Amino acid sequence: MNLIIMGAPGSGKGTQAALICKAHSLPHISTGDLLRKNIADGTELGKQAKAYMDAGKLVPDTLVIALLRNRIEQADCKNGFLLDGFPRNKAQADELGKITEIDAAINLETDLNKLADRMASRRVCLKCGYTTSVQDAPDGKCKVCGDSLVIRDDDKREVVENRLKVYAENTAPLVEYYKAAGKLKNIDGMQSIEDVNKAIEAAIK
Ligand code: ADP
Ligand code: ZN
Repeated sequence: MNLIIMGAPGSGKGTQAALICKAHSLPHISTGDLLRKNIADGTELGKQAKAYMDAGKLVPDTLVIALLRNRIEQADCKNGFLLDGFPRNKAQADELGKITEIDAAINLETDLNKLADRMASRRVCLKCGYTTSVQDAPDGKCKVCGDSLVIRDDDKREVVENRLKVYAENTAPLVEYYKAAGKLKNIDGMQSIEDVNKAIEAAIK
């Protein structure tokens, strides 16, 4: 099962991706997490990507596509995977189509006006990628690995606006792209985490 999960920044993609991957034993491939890991590790790719990410812009396709290709070629992806945050524009989607076939594209539909607040309260673990909110983790510790949770550099208000704009211009058109390909599964992303998960499971069954 090769899946994509799509949705605006702050739509809950990462949270739902983790649940789907756990239930179906699929590797969770988040290009955002992979990029943040590269930044934390001080790699050359991380150095090149950081300025784009901090500004809420897309990292250039050549970098992200190479990163994704490497990841998908690893043995754990042989029986399927879930992509979170990739593809983010038509060029990436075309490239992905050349690498592998996608079975379903899950699209979380959200109210764009509420997403800025969600991102303001988001907290992440840079070590393992775990994402939560300040309300759900008042002690500031990752419940998976124990590391400290932080606010992402690109979750600052000024940057969030830009990310929503980049999403509307570049990524939202992919909804039509996967609809035309007969792969689209639209899900109401404004329900509780549990209900969104149920709707996704029903849609991919
Ligand atoms: P969100 O979906 O909440 O914006 P992500 O972790 O998916 O968060 O992405 C964070 C940032 O990483 C993006 O704003 C962008 O700069 C970069 N990024 C992640 N995936 C891609 C991609 N496929 N193409 C280009 N840039 C990407
Ligand atoms: Zn962690």
